[in-house]
Amino acid sequence: MRAIFIAVGSELLDRDKMDTNSLYVAGKLHEKGILMDMKMVVGDSMEELTWAIKNACKRTQLVVITGGLGPTEDDLTREATANALRKELIFHEEIVDKIRLVFKKRGYEMPEINTRQAFVIEGAEVLPNYVGSAPGQYIDIDSCKVLLLPGPPREMRPMFDKTLEEKIAPLSNYFHYTRSLQLVEISESLADEMMAELYTKCKSIRTTILASPGIISVHLMGRSRKSLEEAQEPTDQLAEQIKERMKDYLFAEGDISFEAYIVEELKRRGVTVSVAESCTGGGLGSRITSIPGSSEVFLGGVVAYSDQLKKKLLGVREETLEKYGAVSSETAREMADGIRRMTGSDIGVSITGIAGPGGGALGKPVGLVHMHISSEKLNKGRYTIFLGDRDYVRIRSQIFSLNLIREYVMQDA
Ligand code: ATP
Repeated sequence: MRAIFIAVGSELLDRDKMDTNSLYVAGKLHEKGILMDMKMVVGDSMEELTWAIKNACKRTQLVVITGGLGPTEDDLTREATANALRKELIFHEEIVDKIRLVFKKRGYEMPEINTRQAFVIEGAEVLPNYVGSAPGQYIDIDSCKVLLLPGPPREMRPMFDKTLEEKIAPLSNYFHYTRSLQLVEISESLADEMMAELYTKCKSIRTTILASPGIISVHLMGRSRKSLEEAQEPTDQLAEQIKERMKDYLFAEGDISFEAYIVEELKRRGVTVSVAESCTGGGLGSRITSIPGSSEVFLGGVVAYSDQLKKKLLGVREETLEKYGAVSSETAREMADGIRRMTGSDIGVSITGIAGPGGGALGKPVGLVHMHISSEKLNKGRYTIFLGDRDYVRIRSQIFSLNLIREYVMQDA
C-alpha cells in the first residue's frame, strides 16, 4: 500500500508554522510498511484543495488529510473532499449532540457555528475525537481510502493511531522488515558515494539517508507480498554489506542517538567523564545529561567562556593563553587536563573555538574549533574548521567531541 499526505491550512504556507503532522504520519505508516510517496501543503482554497484531493485519490491507495475540519468559513476539508469524490455532505444531528457535550464538559455553550462540524461525507465513517471537537472521517472508495483528521497534533495523533491499527494496517498487503544504521562524522555525500554501489543493486529495498549535523542515519526497508523472510533476507544482506563498508563510521544499529550510545558505552565500561566548554556554552554537557541515567558517568562541567575563567577555574596557564591564544591545541589540552584534575573523572573533554559569525582572524578563521580528550592513557587533541553558521559550528563541535570519547572507548574495547 502507498500513501499521499495532504496538510491543509494557509498558516502552514507562511514562515511561522511548520507542518509536523506529516512527519508523524510518515513514521507510523513506515512502521507498518506503508510508503508515503508524496506530501503536499495546501492553503485554505476550495479550488486548490479539491484539485489536490482528487489527484491524490487517482494516484494512490491511501490519502491522509489533516486540518481544515474546524467550524469556521476557512475550514474547507469536508466540502473539498466531498467535491473531489463527487459525494454529498450529510448532516448528522447526533454529532451535534456529541460536540455540544464536549463544550458542556468544559463549561461552555456550543457556538452555533460548530454545527458545521456535523456534516459527514456520504458513506464515511465518523471517527470520534476524544480530545477536541472536530470529528474525523474515514471514507472507503474501493481503490482508495481517504482519512480526514483534525489539524492540532494532539487531536490528530490518537485518531490516526487508532485508525491505522484498526482499519489501514490490516489492508496493507505487504510484509516489511526494517534495519537502521547510525554513522558519525562522515558527510552525506561521502556516505552516499560509499554506499550507493551497494544499495542501488537492491531495487526491492527502500534506502533512506537522513543527515543531521555530524550524524547520518541509514534506513533500509525490505518489502514482500509473499513472506516476511522474503522481505528480511535481502535487507539483512544489504545491512551487513553496508556495515562492513562503513565500519569506521558506524556507531550503532537501531534508532539510538549518538549521545545515548556514548552514555551506554561509558556505563558499560564504568568510565566517568567531565567537560570544559568554551564556544559550545554547555551544549556538550547538556547533550550528555539529556540521556536518562547519565549521572552514572557524567560528573559535571565548566563553561569557561572568558580567558579569566579558563585560568581561574581550569588552571590554563597565562603563558599558554598569551603565546597560543584561547583557541589553540595547547589551551584545549590544558582545559581538558584541568577539568579532569578538578573533578577526578577518568576522562576530561574540552572544546574551544570560534563559532562566529565574528571573531575570526588570520590563521584562525570562523569555524576553527580545537577539542581535546585527556585521560591517564590517552591525551589526544584534534582541530577542525566547520563550515556553517554559529549553530552548526556549535553542534558539530559537540558531536566531534563525543566522537573523541567514542574513539577512546573503542580503543578500550
Ligand atoms: P480546529 O477545530 O482545532 O480548528 P482543524 O482541523 O480545523 O481543527 P486547523 O484549524 O487546520 O485544524 O489547525 C488547527 C491548528 O493545528 C493550527 O493552528 C496548527 O497549530 C495545528 N496544525 C494544523 N495542521 C498542522 C500540521 N500539518 N502540522 C502541525 N500542526 C498543525
